[in-house]
Amino acid sequence: MELTKYTYEELLLQNEELRIQLEEANDTIDAIRTGQVDALIVKDAEGHQLYTLKTADQTYRVFIEKMNEGAVTLNRAGTILYSNSRFATMMNLPLEKVIGLNFAFFIPEISAEKFNDLIHKGWKEDCKGEILLADKQKKLTPCLLSCTTLDLDEGTALSLILTDLTIQKETEWELKVKNEQLLAAQNAAEKLNNELEDTVRARTNDLLISREHFKLLANNIPQMTWTNLPAGEVDFYNQQWYNYTGSRYADSVGWGWQHVVHPDDLPNTLDKYIEALKTGNIFEVENRYKRWDNTYRWHLNRAVPLRDDKGAIIFWVGTATDIEDQKREMDRKDEFIGIASHELRTPLTSLKGYLQLITSYKREEVPAVVKQYIEKASVAINKLQRLINDLLDVSKIQAGRLEYAMGEVNLSDLMVQVTENSKHIYPSHEFDSQLQPGIRIMGNAERLEQVLMNFINNSVKYSLADKKIILKTTINADVVRVSVSDYGIGLSEEQIERIFERFYRVEDKKFMTSGLGMGLYISAEIINNHQGKIGVESELGRGATFYFELPLII
Ligand code: ADP
Repeated sequence: MELTKYTYEELLLQNEELRIQLEEANDTIDAIRTGQVDALIVKDAEGHQLYTLKTADQTYRVFIEKMNEGAVTLNRAGTILYSNSRFATMMNLPLEKVIGLNFAFFIPEISAEKFNDLIHKGWKEDCKGEILLADKQKKLTPCLLSCTTLDLDEGTALSLILTDLTIQKETEWELKVKNEQLLAAQNAAEKLNNELEDTVRARTNDLLISREHFKLLANNIPQMTWTNLPAGEVDFYNQQWYNYTGSRYADSVGWGWQHVVHPDDLPNTLDKYIEALKTGNIFEVENRYKRWDNTYRWHLNRAVPLRDDKGAIIFWVGTATDIEDQKREMDRKDEFIGIASHELRTPLTSLKGYLQLITSYKREEVPAVVKQYIEKASVAINKLQRLINDLLDVSKIQAGRLEYAMGEVNLSDLMVQVTENSKHIYPSHEFDSQLQPGIRIMGNAERLEQVLMNFINNSVKYSLADKKIILKTTINADVVRVSVSDYGIGLSEEQIERIFERFYRVEDKKFMTSGLGMGLYISAEIINNHQGKIGVESELGRGATFYFELPLII
């Protein structure tokens, strides 16, 4: 290779020329970028080329420079003839390094095919497409590439506008995620809605079935049934009601039922009904209902309240059971008891008489053992007498004929006497009397003694190891309470409710005692006749306190 020899001055000259050329090139680029000139020089395989921008004007280039999008111009070979600063920033390169580069430098492998297609197409017509650009550090930026041809003096160039889609893509992505979440939420809501609809459907069905069940049941039981609202109006009767009373819905609905209740039973029925509505306790009453043929039959009415989960009454369900036949049976039984006790009384009276005669006959000659037999017979006869007297009382009560004279009674004296008697009859028991003196009431001493003795007999009968019995009077305002307490077997709440019923006895297999369940029934009747109150306070296994209260004479 032949080397051209230059003198030092020549070299200095050349060097100066090259420096000027470089300066000029830099100035040109700067001038073009800032819109001061319309041409640029590019060095490619064919040496330096000058490009002038035919349509370019100052405003246009300033505008391009300030745009938010990257803008580049390529020649056929893909060389970047012009770039705005934005594009250089996007690609993380200084502007002067961008110009003259082949645009393919920024195209990653993944976008190469698409980019080539777009460029190819872009030379023929305007087109757009999304591609990825890679900067020097291979960081990818999604971009929208818009191609359009540009006529320069030197020929046609391709202008590319590159819109950074990073934020848009991120937003799109977020939107997509949000959309997916929305869709998931929608699906969940729809599922929930479907489930809810299913539940409602099932509940409606259940309700329908239970209503049908109720109707079927109500119309097929022998009793008359009804439902009433918390304020008392009846809103439903079963078919039996209409069959029995012969009335129509319009006559019976609300409070209309009153016209079929026997006039004598109506006040008591209404009292109990209103009381139940007020307290929410079970409604129970016996009364006569008029049948379609104008005859009356006894019924046992019972109604229970149906409550919601907060305890408020929704409605009441009532039944009326025909007890006419049982009542007749009871009447027959009462009649039988009445006759039998009468019939028993006559021979008992003669028996007692003869026993008295025997007792007083040749007293000194009677051996001790016979005296003992006579004593035992006398105890047995007294017991029999009490039983027959009770039976007679019961039948009198049933017939409404338990009558006795009333007068002033010194209750304190009566109690002292009863205590003394009890100590004598039951020497194995301890009687503790806590009595106030001078208590006066209106009543029948014999009958009140009967009540007290019934209480005491029961306390003795139902006591266990602790044989203490307390007799007590308590005065509260103008009322005296007389009570008999024991430490015996006691009573359950259920038993207490029924204790004053006729012939009611607690079925206790462990504690067998004699008795017919008449004593308390008679006692209650006597105390009621005295305008008093009878009651019991007790707990199972913890003894019982039976009491009555009477108005004082002040
Ligand atoms: P009886 O003759 O059967 O005692 P009552 O009418 O006097 O009849 O009493 C009815 C029932 O009440 C009794 O069978 C008994 O179960 C119960 N009772 C009465 N007094 C007491 C008491 N002091 N303690 C426990 N239970 C009692």
